[in-house]
Amino acid sequence: MKSTLIIAGAFIVSCCGTSQNSSENTSKLDSTSEKNDKTTVVAYAQSITSKELKEHLYIFASDDFEGRDTGEPGQKKAAEYLKEQYKKMKIPSPMGGDDYYQEIPENYFRGGIKSSENVLAYIKGTEKPDEIVVLSAHYDHVGVDANGNVYNGADDDGSGTVSLLEIAEAFKKAKDDGVGPKRSILFLHVTGEEKGLYGSRYYTENPVFPLENTVTDLNIDMIGRIDQAHEEKDKNNYVYLIGSDRLSTELHNISEEVNSKYTKLDLDYTYNAKNDPNRFYFRSDHYNFAKHNIPIIFYFNGVHMDYHKITDTPDKIEYDLMAKRAQLVFYTAWEVANRAKKVVVDKIEKEGE
Ligand SMILES: [Zn+2]
Repeated sequence: MKSTLIIAGAFIVSCCGTSQNSSENTSKLDSTSEKNDKTTVVAYAQSITSKELKEHLYIFASDDFEGRDTGEPGQKKAAEYLKEQYKKMKIPSPMGGDDYYQEIPENYFRGGIKSSENVLAYIKGTEKPDEIVVLSAHYDHVGVDANGNVYNGADDDGSGTVSLLEIAEAFKKAKDDGVGPKRSILFLHVTGEEKGLYGSRYYTENPVFPLENTVTDLNIDMIGRIDQAHEEKDKNNYVYLIGSDRLSTELHNISEEVNSKYTKLDLDYTYNAKNDPNRFYFRSDHYNFAKHNIPIIFYFNGVHMDYHKITDTPDKIEYDLMAKRAQLVFYTAWEVANRAKKVVVDKIEKEGE
């Protein structure tokens, strides 16, 4: 999450399991094959585990990655880590071969930032491969302070980053079982978010797949923590959703439906209010898709005491909650990618930026 004059923050969720279970019908949650579909999708979702998220995050948010500052060696190391994970999972790059990086030249940035790269991986759709569902999270953070203390950025946005890896793994298992998504899925790890949403803007200005075929962007930025408003025990099973109803009523309804069917989180729309002074809708990478009228959902845990501090460390993450939040993203993506018709945009309006 990019900071502005106003403090913002967030959390993440995701998680766990292993799966198998193939079935030729997946995906139409409202069809007569609902039972089979439900069994299948649940098995894949459960392959997103708190254990695996934690393993990834303790590496990804370690001091070794030096706060993942855009254009700096720590960020390059983080990019390499992501690429290696996709290669290990046998999930290809949309650019082909060994090239998982979308290079962003130095002159695209302002303020002395060196060249950097988005990291992209891709699962090709079985029936409508030209229609793309984007799942995004930024993998950069703010580096090291003057005393050499590392900003680990475990929540911001290590949580979103490792959730994408686990969601990708779940879709890959489904694909290998012959129940791969009907539409294609792009796993988009963007850089330069903390410096001003550079990576997502670069992608949308230089899209690998045409934006007119891009169905939705589900963006995760901070889903591993609990904010002050939800600290009480009966309130902490939550995630903030922002933007889900701004362009597509259908996307909003899908999100609500899969949540009530599977994840049962309290979906908090406080920050979705048009007059919300935090303006989170404009402050993470999904906005670069929304401004092109591509429906988005932004998943967020709200700000907390460790937001943009050296204390945003992996030991403070709520891994079970993060797993559940990541599963919500997975279920939503599954439905968007597999339903018979592409999500309808019915609410284009002018948002005053
Ligand atoms: Zn941030």
